[in-house]
Amino acid sequence: MTWNPTTGCSKISQGCKFCYAEIMSKRLHAMGVEKYKDNFKVRTHPSSLKIPYTWKKSKVVFVNSMSDLFHEEVPLSFIKDVFKVMRENPQHVFQVLTKRADRLLEIHDKLKWTHNIWMGVSVEDMQVTKRIDLLSNTNAKVKFLSLEPLIGPLNNMNLNNIDWVIVGGESGHNPRPMESDWVLDIQEQCKSSDVPFFFKQWGGKNKKKNGRILNGKTYDEMPEIDLQLSV
Ligand code: SF4
Repeated sequence: MTWNPTTGCSKISQGCKFCYAEIMSKRLHAMGVEKYKDNFKVRTHPSSLKIPYTWKKSKVVFVNSMSDLFHEEVPLSFIKDVFKVMRENPQHVFQVLTKRADRLLEIHDKLKWTHNIWMGVSVEDMQVTKRIDLLSNTNAKVKFLSLEPLIGPLNNMNLNNIDWVIVGGESGHNPRPMESDWVLDIQEQCKSSDVPFFFKQWGGKNKKKNGRILNGKTYDEMPEIDLQLSV
């Protein structure tokens, strides 16, 4: 399940090269979808704030698959509105992912965090590992790393305050390769730091065929979180 209270973004690092949100925004714009009338420009959508209240069953929700909530053009007041909705819906887990970890740290203490708000940063290579430390220093109750698309090795990460690590390779027409040694090293780092490890996919031109087997098995580890704590 995705929920997009904001749309649009701008590229910030190598991981953005084949941005899915940009490609989809262009497509939806061409189809005349109102929410994407400004194409990939950053826009807030106050009417979308009502949506999570209408879901009857508990869901795991990926927040802003078409944007980055911590983009500098998203006003703090709107980010606070999004957090209020997430807090008022403790029956759902909201996964928020950003590449703007510096802004996240800048405003984290102006936001109210609950256990159902999982905060993650994307880290694609060694150039941007500082995002891990920025995330670690926030008040988020559940912190995760999305190492996807993994386009380089990530040695000696500081996983001290991290609750979950997801790894995935790039897919599409011209994907940058992900080496198995990089993935195995990350899996070892997670094992020695006792951090749940989720291997999402190898990616590549035919991601279905390439699958998600590593070391002869699938890795689907997740953090164990008691959602009652968030109420
Ligand atoms: S931060 Fe995310 S949404 Fe924004 S351009 Fe990069 S990949 Fe796309």
